[in-house]
Amino acid sequence: MTTDRCIKCGGCEQSCPVVCIEGIQSFSGPRTLAVDGPRFSAEIDHLRDHIMKCTTCWKCEEVCPSRIDLPQAILEIRKLMFDPLKMLPGHRRIVENVDRFRMSIEPEGEAPPAPAGEKGEVMYFPGCISRERIPSIYRGTVSTLEKVGADFGVPKGWVCCGAPLEKLGDRDRMDSLVEDNLRTFDGFETIITSCPGCTTQLFNHYGVEPLHTIEYLYESVGLNRLSFRHAGDIKVAFHQPCHLSRTIGRHSMDYALALLQEVPGLEVLELENADMCCGGGGGVVAGYPDVALDLAKEKMSSFSDSGADLLLAPCPFCVLNLERVGNSSVKEFVTFLEALLE
Ligand code: SF4
Ligand code: SF4
Repeated sequence: MTTDRCIKCGGCEQSCPVVCIEGIQSFSGPRTLAVDGPRFSAEIDHLRDHIMKCTTCWKCEEVCPSRIDLPQAILEIRKLMFDPLKMLPGHRRIVENVDRFRMSIEPEGEAPPAPAGEKGEVMYFPGCISRERIPSIYRGTVSTLEKVGADFGVPKGWVCCGAPLEKLGDRDRMDSLVEDNLRTFDGFETIITSCPGCTTQLFNHYGVEPLHTIEYLYESVGLNRLSFRHAGDIKVAFHQPCHLSRTIGRHSMDYALALLQEVPGLEVLELENADMCCGGGGGVVAGYPDVALDLAKEKMSSFSDSGADLLLAPCPFCVLNLERVGNSSVKEFVTFLEALLE
């Protein structure tokens, strides 16, 4: 990938959430890491300390006037510098979990049962967090699919999509997960996911065109087939996950707001910096939990200022990280809608 088009405007650094929160000494920023670092030294190991703090939020690419794909360049550097002996403890745990469970996280307790069908028109790919850490997202999505009358199933023997391993630079392990999953995907026409990270991963590495559940509800089901109960006059604010709003596309944000507008008794309030990263991505929660928590606190501070009763987030990773702040007002988007869906 060429980074020669950089005009040194500094826009990427000014907009980078990690630079804004942690300062340039802690995280030297996208231009230094992706453009200057590899150019001025063939030895990229000196970037290791900083480069794993990037949340892969893709904000820098969005603002770059030369449209340099800085996050992708950062992922390529992580791939080049991947060394099992130099992993951070949290990253080592992810790799060990994949080796033991074929999941990025250790399963906790009993996961909810899969729906009977393992084939169908629609394949629901739950992802590790929805299935094993926040099973209410799994249950809410299954219930949503049942309520809209979808012919759906969950592939038997699915494993982690591999997105967390791509973020660590461990492409060999990632490829082995992709192979395992592809063997389970036969017999389905449409693939839907709960997690924007899974959606992006399936699109980039599986040769399929998955839909996030929000896209499925808007495009395939349609607003005219959805009917919601009165929400009880509550106010919500809407967090825009990076891997949904930027990686999948802005249209998904329009769909999400259109879905919320269908709910009677619901007011959507403006959230300042709604598309600013919450810290949940890029392997930062596992590698640098304090950095991820600082970003989550910033997001929850915007939420407090909004005056809303609930903060809706259509991403399991965002929900998990935002909940670390200790505010119980965070709700996963589809789970919230399902409770009101008739
Ligand atoms: S992807 Fe996000 S966190 Fe990473 S360098 Fe770019 S703006 Fe910063
Ligand atoms: S925003 Fe793009 S052009 Fe500007 S400094 Fe960053 S990489 Fe270079």
